[in-house]
Amino acid sequence: MCMCHNPINCIVPPHMLDVMMLRGDKSVRKMAESLMKVSDSVREDRAAHSGSGVVPTAAGAGTFVSRALALGAADAHTCDRRVHDGDEKAALPGNLVRGEGDAATGDEEVDRAYDGAGDVFNLYSEEFDRNSIDGFGMPIVQTVHHRRNYNNAFWNGEQMAYGDGDGEIFQTFTELSVIAHEISHGVVQHSGGLIYQGQSGALNESYADVFGAMTQQRSQGQDVYQADWLVGKGILGPNINGVALRSMKAPGTAYSDALLGQDPQPYHMDFYVNTTSDNGGVHINSGIPNHAFYLYCMYLGGNAWERPGQIWYKALQKINNPHATFGDWAAQTLDASIELYGAGSYEMMMLRRAWNLVGIDI
Ligand SMILES: [Zn+2]
Repeated sequence: MCMCHNPINCIVPPHMLDVMMLRGDKSVRKMAESLMKVSDSVREDRAAHSGSGVVPTAAGAGTFVSRALALGAADAHTCDRRVHDGDEKAALPGNLVRGEGDAATGDEEVDRAYDGAGDVFNLYSEEFDRNSIDGFGMPIVQTVHHRRNYNNAFWNGEQMAYGDGDGEIFQTFTELSVIAHEISHGVVQHSGGLIYQGQSGALNESYADVFGAMTQQRSQGQDVYQADWLVGKGILGPNINGVALRSMKAPGTAYSDALLGQDPQPYHMDFYVNTTSDNGGVHINSGIPNHAFYLYCMYLGGNAWERPGQIWYKALQKINNPHATFGDWAAQTLDASIELYGAGSYEMMMLRRAWNLVGIDI
């Protein structure tokens, strides 16, 4: 069964759950089965919200920003983090345990979510002049300890939620690249969106991975050569044979495990996976644009959030095509490179070469 038809952006893809259902013992099978059901109910929730025609945001914050704009203070970006404790229950958002400016709580999950959201906010604000998820100072709402032993994290259209993991397959989800990945799904949604199906869905996933890795690299002061290019490093349980959920440097090599199976990501169009599961392989074929970004960074050197990040961000703001294919996206990044660095620039030539190397001609 397909897990998410609507844009519920989970970090753990359904193909991993499928393999767990097939290979796991009784308790693992039960866990995988219940995760699929949970995704369905989250989906229905989301459908109910979108039925109202608006994605609710905090009206108060919007009003504040409008006032600030009216007063000519458009530059002022204000971070408004709200971390809730789900208390291992399903209800969202749960109890507010740390608001903006509050001291650390001592609960590692709460404090990592808080600090991580700050790193993401700062990346978008300082490098891309974007004021939070929607560009208008939207509060960053996160729930930790979501459900009991829950093996996933997601953006549901309004907020992030993170399970604690079951301690065996996953040990946490409040890891910086995961936090930044989920928040970046919100940025995609508020930038015109990329439909969560097929190639546009894989581009949505890839954008979230690119900005997830970028946030981590920036917070650790790593240039493109120092970075490990892993998404979800350290979230796998101690006995799982793998290093992360995905590798942008070497898609298809993040894990190889009796229970989780083999990382199925391709790095080239020749190995593009045609499938009806995972919304048409959104977490699988994202390996191709992920690898193009990585290769481009290797050509340019420096920091990912500088020239490559600027091009990717501009492309997202300009594409205006929720059904974009890989080819459409690559062409949009080429336009952005010309706009930012000039026709015939080194940045433009190397970008064309990076896309060609993954089998996309522009
Ligand atoms: Zn995702």
